[in-house]
Amino acid sequence: MSPSEDCRVFDIQRFSIHDGPGIRTTVFLEGCPLRCAWCQNPESFVSDAARAMTPAAIVAEVLRDRDFFAVSGGGMTVSGGEPLLHLAPVRALLAEAKRHGLHTCVQTSGAVPSENVAAVLGLVDVFQFDLKHMNAERHRALTGATNERILRNATLLVERGATVQFRTPLVPGVNDDEENLNALAQFFTGLGITTMELVPYHRLYLEKYASLGLRAPREDLEPPSPSERRRAAERLRRDGVLAHVDPHE
Ligand code: SF4
Repeated sequence: MSPSEDCRVFDIQRFSIHDGPGIRTTVFLEGCPLRCAWCQNPESFVSDAARAMTPAAIVAEVLRDRDFFAVSGGGMTVSGGEPLLHLAPVRALLAEAKRHGLHTCVQTSGAVPSENVAAVLGLVDVFQFDLKHMNAERHRALTGATNERILRNATLLVERGATVQFRTPLVPGVNDDEENLNALAQFFTGLGITTMELVPYHRLYLEKYASLGLRAPREDLEPPSPSERRRAAERLRRDGVLAHVDPHE
């Protein structure tokens, strides 16, 4: 294995139940091209928060919970940051996981070159794909980049037959307006997608910024109330998109 295939890992979390099917071990890789106003993983931007690990060492650690994966239908999830940003390491990690028969999930913002997405297609069982805002300029204001490449990659995955679970972080006053929800529903129905997940914004991560000596970009954001969650889900359902909102999030 060449050093260029070493992964920069800032966390490995065992027994995750929100990162794909079953019980999972989630590997967090450093680096992200976006800077979302509500980012809950600021460690992904701080280079001394990560350590270099070979794919073999990561998978050896993940395999400790192989028995839990077997009974629950779980496996390894690769998250970030943006795990598809550095292609050689993530591809080597996914290939190593597959060599050991692990179910694999990748959580992505889609803000990477399409070649990176296409290059891991055969190694990923499920993509969890975040769509943060449908308006290109609002997307830029909220994350630092427009969304054209993201929407192209979402389309690519669906057209290539990948299993994709789309998710939208629901942030009141940011992306829960009628216009955005309407555009989201139109995008999904255009692709033949009928289910997605709304992930309610929460504020629990703010103390991470403080402990890293960073300032959160938007401390004023509030979680959606139960009625705001219901309204957003109902709006999507009107256009035939069943939006799941996890009551435990
Ligand atoms: S894509 Fe994810 S990791 Fe990157 S800035 Fe946005 S929320 Fe943070």
